[in-house]
Amino acid sequence: MPFSEIIGFTTDLRDPDDVDYVYYVTAHEIAHQWWAHQVIGANVQGVTMLDETFAQYSALMLMEYEYGIPQMRKFLKYELDRYLASRGGETVEEMPLALVENQDYIHYHKGAVAMYALKDYLGEDVVDKTLSRYAHDKAFQLPPYTTTYEFLDYLRQDAGTKWTPLIDDLFTRITLFDNRVVEATAKKRSDGKYDLTMKLHTGKFYADGLGKETKASVDIPIDLGVFARGKDDKEANQKVLLLEKRDIADGDSSITLVLDEAPYEVGIDPYNKLIDRISDDNRMRVTLE
Ligand SMILES: [Zn+2]
Repeated sequence: MPFSEIIGFTTDLRDPDDVDYVYYVTAHEIAHQWWAHQVIGANVQGVTMLDETFAQYSALMLMEYEYGIPQMRKFLKYELDRYLASRGGETVEEMPLALVENQDYIHYHKGAVAMYALKDYLGEDVVDKTLSRYAHDKAFQLPPYTTTYEFLDYLRQDAGTKWTPLIDDLFTRITLFDNRVVEATAKKRSDGKYDLTMKLHTGKFYADGLGKETKASVDIPIDLGVFARGKDDKEANQKVLLLEKRDIADGDSSITLVLDEAPYEVGIDPYNKLIDRISDDNRMRVTLE
């Protein structure tokens, strides 16, 4: 992999909390051996999803194997924040991922988060099966070349109709969540357990190409997480007390749980798997009463 000095030679990775983007970018470039060098898309809208987004997904999964799931929020948040910051600077029109017009904030940054969410909901085996079937059928093909809509047909076949709305939200619409923790308090009980009360807010919007938003309804279960403090203050070292997808009411709601250990932090979509308008308010420290 040829690297320029600015990324491969002068990168300072002495702090293990920094994103190791030398590893990440190398993985991305190697992934192009499949996505762009074997599967080549037609020169139409969406073509860069077939090479850049799939290379991002392949790299992200390698990061997951190398660094572990607790580290994934760092990478997902990095991608999500770049997407959110850049869409505000769009000068023509934001496109849905499957119709991307060589817009790097969409095919790299949004694409990585969207594919990871897809894997998280459908299962890695389903997404890998689709990618492998698609690559097998389309590798080294002659014109007419493949398109994202053809890929989505493969995906819908493997995913089943249950996931059609999610696939549409991720690929053919501009979908934004507004998930946040509003309040988190806990109280130690006389039996040593903890009563935890969380006030949550969920919301989903569809944006048009100019950023105008329309309210939609939350129709997928969302990760709810409760974490105990780790050996230090670092988020990635926290111990997971609870992490499960739950049907959380649209809008404001309150959830109460009983825990064996003291909760330190809670989160709704705590790993930033969904495209959320604000990535920082998904987690909150618990106030012990
Ligand atoms: Zn690339």
